[in-house]
Amino acid sequence: MTDCPFCRIVARQSPADVVYEDDAVLAFKDIYPKAPVHLLIVPKRHIASLLDASEADVDTLGRCVLAARRLAETTGYAGKGFRLSVNTGPEGGQVVYHVHFHFTAGRRSRTDV
Ligand code: AMP
Ligand code: ZN
Repeated sequence: MTDCPFCRIVARQSPADVVYEDDAVLAFKDIYPKAPVHLLIVPKRHIASLLDASEADVDTLGRCVLAARRLAETTGYAGKGFRLSVNTGPEGGQVVYHVHFHFTAGRRSRTDV
């Protein structure tokens, strides 16, 4: 069994409130939301951080960004807008080492999510 909490969610070995899924991407609600809408968009394939991303990950990471656009539409924030951020490395505030895009919406953007 993997030690990575987001791989465990992808494998359905841990619970999550899944809001979107396709063959490359899973999105679920952040367990400690910091905005009225706070979702995490993750590649199904484990990539520890953006610092580990390579050419082979370009399609998967692009699919995460397109999932954000889709989630903006399904959550009703395509008009108002949203924020997409990827904390990377210790000084980037990354806690979980499986690349994840924070999708936040519902209030003015802040820089510390
Ligand atoms: P980061 O600091 O960018 O690594 O963010 C990790 C995020 O993952 C935080 O916002 C946590 O609240 C969230 N998180 C951690 N574990 C879970 C989980 N099991 N389900 C949903 N969100 C989680
Ligand atoms: Zn993982």
